[in-house]
Amino acid sequence: MKITLKKGREKTVLKYHPWIFSGAVDRVWGEPNDGDTVDLFSNDGKFLARAAYSPNSQIRARVWSFEDVEIDKNFFVDKVRRAIEKRKIMNLDKITNGYRIINSESDGLPGFIADKYGEAVVIQSLFVGSELWKNILVEILIEEISPKCVYERSDADVREIEGLHAINGLLWGDLPNQYIFFEDNGLKYLVDPIHGHKTGYYLDQRVNRYKMRDLAEGREVLDCFCYTGGFTINALLGGAKKVISIDSSVLALEQCRKHVSLNNLPYENHEILQGNVFEELRRFRDMGRQFDLIVLDPPKFAPTVSFINKASRAYKDINLLALKLLRKNGILLTFSCSGGVDLNLFQKIVSDAAFDAGVELQIIDIMSQSPDHPISVYFPEGWYLKGLICLKG
Ligand code: SAH
Repeated sequence: MKITLKKGREKTVLKYHPWIFSGAVDRVWGEPNDGDTVDLFSNDGKFLARAAYSPNSQIRARVWSFEDVEIDKNFFVDKVRRAIEKRKIMNLDKITNGYRIINSESDGLPGFIADKYGEAVVIQSLFVGSELWKNILVEILIEEISPKCVYERSDADVREIEGLHAINGLLWGDLPNQYIFFEDNGLKYLVDPIHGHKTGYYLDQRVNRYKMRDLAEGREVLDCFCYTGGFTINALLGGAKKVISIDSSVLALEQCRKHVSLNNLPYENHEILQGNVFEELRRFRDMGRQFDLIVLDPPKFAPTVSFINKASRAYKDINLLALKLLRKNGILLTFSCSGGVDLNLFQKIVSDAAFDAGVELQIIDIMSQSPDHPISVYFPEGWYLKGLICLKG
């Protein structure tokens, strides 16, 4: 089975971009089913790549290989081994046993994510191609890293576009109890694979939380959109005078509190606040409350480019409010995990917020997703997390 592209549409594939949009397809030969392997050809008949076919999605095919190789178990063994080997090169095991082993497109495995949390692995399969090979991929992960269990959290919205139903369940082994444990740079973490967000935790912020640790000493910290308190516990470990953690989720806040006690951190310096960050920031402003360090790590405001304007206003709103709440010499750690908002736009939003707040502001550090979430240079869409550390004058 094969796909021929329209004239000129082979250019992106020749540059190793793994997505073939429906508009680029000239003709589908044979009757490939969901996820079937198809050969991609340019309009003048040159072999381009081997890909997985996705009839219901705008992204009509995703490339497994740009070479003429067999797509079989051996192919996937090689991909998984390479991904594991790369994490070894990053020396992650020295500092953490919670990290992403497979980062979908950027590790050459479109739609497939595997996160390691101690002795457990939580996977996510997001398109029909990875779905077809899912059991084989899980088998390989078991062979290669011998986890105690493999849990599946394939319940992201994007599966619907692919015509796939949501799955949340144990695939292999025994789930220890309600929580899976892992350790990261001297702190213990709990992951709830069943109810947690994504695969249970946000590993992508790992190295950025270390930065918080370095900056927190003696400061009054406001951790907005704290989820289970990754930034909070790093701030407490770093010697923060006080940390207030805000989130809308009761479940996440309960776990945040557990993280503080599990790590024997000074709970008397910690406060949780359940609420809407947009409202709580306004309330603090009206009360004249001030802080020395504020984290803004909101959910994805712009899942796609069409949400950019609305998302930009939301980012500006919270950044403006946070800047007003910061004392002189205060520090803002501000993030965007929206793929549709790139670093330039994000920097402009923060600059507009500073202008409207009438404050002097300097960027002292630029952040990204942690190295276990690598970005293939041929797939810029894989760079979704951007962050700025700013110093208020
Ligand atoms: N900073 C976290 C990850 C944040 S994920 C960490 O380090 O792990 C985004 C969080 O924002 C989620 O926990 C979600 O419950 C919360 N959230 C979403 N909208 C919110 C709102 N309007 N007000 C408060 N919390 C919100």
